[in-house]
Amino acid sequence: MSNNSNFWIVTDLDGTLMDENYDISPAKETLKWLAKLSIPVIPCTSKTASEVRYFRNENKLLDPFIVENGSAIYGSHANQIDEWELILGRSYKQLRQVLSSLSNDVSFNLTPLNDLKTNEIHNLTGLAGYEISRALDRHWSVPFLNPPENIYEKIMFYCNKYNVHIFKGNRMSHLLCVNSHKGKAVNKLKEYLQKPNVRIIALGDSQNDLPLLEYADISIVIPGRNGPNKYLTDGINRGEFILANAPHAVGWADSVKSIILNNVDI
Ligand SMILES: [Mg+2]
Repeated sequence: MSNNSNFWIVTDLDGTLMDENYDISPAKETLKWLAKLSIPVIPCTSKTASEVRYFRNENKLLDPFIVENGSAIYGSHANQIDEWELILGRSYKQLRQVLSSLSNDVSFNLTPLNDLKTNEIHNLTGLAGYEISRALDRHWSVPFLNPPENIYEKIMFYCNKYNVHIFKGNRMSHLLCVNSHKGKAVNKLKEYLQKPNVRIIALGDSQNDLPLLEYADISIVIPGRNGPNKYLTDGINRGEFILANAPHAVGWADSVKSIILNNVDI
């Protein structure tokens, strides 16, 4: 990263910058404006590195990116070809074993996304073809089908036993090592790039964004069509999180513009 901005925008993708059809078009002008101002936009997502590399190319983003819910961080070296990598998580293989053990503990078969048939993944995610291959290219977390609420409560009880945590997303849940979440990943990136004083503007929409929103200096909750996620309402009510005025890319662009205009000398 070649700039000296005092701010980083760290953003979730699914449900935050992207709507349910993965569209970000209402935010594209704002992304160009941020690029002109040399303000980094750092994706911080449950998506895989393969998916985010594709997304960055499509949207001409050059800044580092945090994947698999904070389990790994990547960035481009100056030649924009080679990448560096920081790992916070545990391997996919180890986590798969934990998911099997959890299934035994709660007597319910927790189904990993990667075990589904292509058409089932398409029905769940709306993804197709290469998009599915990129989404299955997991290394540091295990997404699995959302279990019923009573089973979800039970598995949360067993997380300590295996040093893992579980975040429930809109489409699926994610199992990851207890040492990795989005907030820890941003902190690690600050250390790695030696930017202890950079201010974090974070945007998220779901429970898995809570560690990021709690860590950030300015935290924005992007609502869905029916309002904000239930796990984020406490932070909004306490005045710690700002609720965007519209869902997805529209709310994203409005919030980012107003914060930058109020905080940065342009
Ligand atoms: Mg999301």
